[in-house]
Amino acid sequence: MATSSAPGQNGSAYPITDHTFDVVVIGAGGAGLRATVGCSQAGLRTACISKVFPTRSHTVAAQGGISAALGNMGRDDWRWHMYDTVKGSDWLGDQDAIEYLCRNAPEAVYELEHWGVPFSRTEEGKIYQRPFGGMTTEFGKGTAQRTCAAADRTGHAILHTLYGQALRNKTEFFIEYFAIDLIMDSEGRCVGVICIKMDDGSIHRFRSALTILATGGYGRAYFSATSAHTCTGDGNAMVLRAGLPLQDMEFVQFHPTGIYGSGCLITEGARGEGGYVTNGNGERFMERYAPSAKDLASRDVVSRAMTIEIREGRGVGRNKDHIYLHLDHLDPKILHERLPGISESARIFAGVDVTKEPIPVIPTVHYNMGGIPTNYHGEVLTKKDGNADSVVPGLMALGEAACVSIHGANRLGSNSLIDLVVFGRAAGLRARELVTPGQKQPELPANSAEMSLSRLDKYRWAKGSTPTATLRAKMQATMQSNCAVFRTGEILEEGSQAIHDVWKAMPDIKISDRSLIWNSDLIETMEFDNLLIQAVVTMDSALNRQESRGAHAREDFPNRDDKEWMKHTLAWADEAKGKIDIDYRPVHTYTMTDEIEYIEPKARVY
Ligand SMILES: Cc1cc2nc3c(=O)[nH]c(=O)nc-3n(C[C@H](O)[C@H](O)[C@H](O)COP(=O)(O)OP(=O)(O)OC[C@H]3O[C@@H](n4cnc5c(N)ncnc54)[C@H](O)[C@@H]3O)c2cc1C
Repeated sequence: MATSSAPGQNGSAYPITDHTFDVVVIGAGGAGLRATVGCSQAGLRTACISKVFPTRSHTVAAQGGISAALGNMGRDDWRWHMYDTVKGSDWLGDQDAIEYLCRNAPEAVYELEHWGVPFSRTEEGKIYQRPFGGMTTEFGKGTAQRTCAAADRTGHAILHTLYGQALRNKTEFFIEYFAIDLIMDSEGRCVGVICIKMDDGSIHRFRSALTILATGGYGRAYFSATSAHTCTGDGNAMVLRAGLPLQDMEFVQFHPTGIYGSGCLITEGARGEGGYVTNGNGERFMERYAPSAKDLASRDVVSRAMTIEIREGRGVGRNKDHIYLHLDHLDPKILHERLPGISESARIFAGVDVTKEPIPVIPTVHYNMGGIPTNYHGEVLTKKDGNADSVVPGLMALGEAACVSIHGANRLGSNSLIDLVVFGRAAGLRARELVTPGQKQPELPANSAEMSLSRLDKYRWAKGSTPTATLRAKMQATMQSNCAVFRTGEILEEGSQAIHDVWKAMPDIKISDRSLIWNSDLIETMEFDNLLIQAVVTMDSALNRQESRGAHAREDFPNRDDKEWMKHTLAWADEAKGKIDIDYRPVHTYTMTDEIEYIEPKARVY
């Protein structure tokens, strides 16, 4: 149902079109679409809002595959998958959530298969599964083939299938609508969201019993990232502006094999199929850093090893500033069948024929382990009256935007796509319990659009002198140089100062195109504002954590410190004061059921 109100009403000069739904999902990537399908199937009137056309969501870029212990290529067990995920997380993951993920993964993959995902096949017609970094059998003893693949276009296949299912289940899509802020009532309940419709610049208010954020990661806070320009973490920033915390933002994953110069990804599936990296001496150096897993060690381990090789003068190329990835020894038929997309990317972005030459690669920002804290139903958590597991009513978060936390300090490759569909499905099941179709909506607070529209006006009519692009470049350069693969207190202090300076410079921003339409300077500035607040939180959370764990490698605190630091960071941003507040919450050191015991921390060697 949509109604319009006249200018001047609702505390704003903008005419507002109102919509009412049982559930509003913001985001049409793998997480948003899977939740949308579940909510629609539960008979709930569901809207799915996306700033890009659904099948252009970033999930489309996922290459290598989706993990699940199907056992199609040899023995496998969800408990081994759980062990690998806990170890991969460097014991920062919540083990109840990891159990939920790994136990439910096979069913979620079969569901995708039945819905039409065209997985690659084995000779017997089963779903093809490839090895991936950190995935083992027998609790670390053997190499698992657990990553289900549709050639090297798995995300593309999943996203298109889920979009088809959402249409089939009569979801209502609002495409090229840009969500700007959540509507929270005085009791702390989320009651909807305010959006700009980017083809005509009109303002829309969505009212709902349940709002689900599935807005993806914020890779674009960095200069070089494998993620799309749309990956600006808008939902995370909305959560901060709603006075809620983000969790574990210091854990940013660098993928070992971004193409040197362009940042375009070469999937870990390439090493899964037998690829390996060499330094300037032609040495397969991973044998020194990870004697058993070698090139298939976890991503943080391979990225650090590559960075050390380059820093110690053993890089390749004129400036010895990158590394080679070899696929040239593999059978061209295998490359053609299993890695056609990356063969094309290597040709376009590096001018390399992978059957004859190595690909120049460098560690590149790839994934955000941190995000909006949730439980394994997808419900958003905050710390209230000392309880760090207090549920925020009316609000859920999923996918890369969320921190459930299964990836902890480091995500294993192919564990994101499974996260999207397992927890997307869980959110649909929870929505069925929480919301009755057509139930009475909670009241909208007075002036429900005021905060979002005053922020919009602040930028729309800004009269400063620094173009958005200048500030964005400063933010990206600071994050790239001061919050990267290796960190020290000194570098992070300097980074914190620099990123806070960019934050302080926001009132001087200059807008050249003030229109409320797609690609305008104004929309890009609002995305930049979202990125910046997350960059500040990331830097300050990293500065505070005085240990090394997973992707957070402090040269001044080289060891993991379970006694002091086996806890999640929670960070709140006070924009008015320009201040970040940091607190912690305990890691869940218990499992969901008694079918597996808590996996005790130990040294993480591969
Ligand atoms: C190149 C690459 C390859 C990868 N390969 C793999 C792989 O093989 N296996 C694996 O497990 N993982 C892989 N990953 C990681 C994985 O693809 C992502 O983590 C995952 O797809 C994120 O899905 P999502 O649904 O959370 O978000 P996304 O797919 O990023 O979708 C976000 C959605 O939110 C919408 N949105 C955002 N902000 C707003 C707003 N303000 N208003 C309205 N809508 C908004 C967008 O339009 C979009 O629909 C890869 C990542 C990259 C970068």
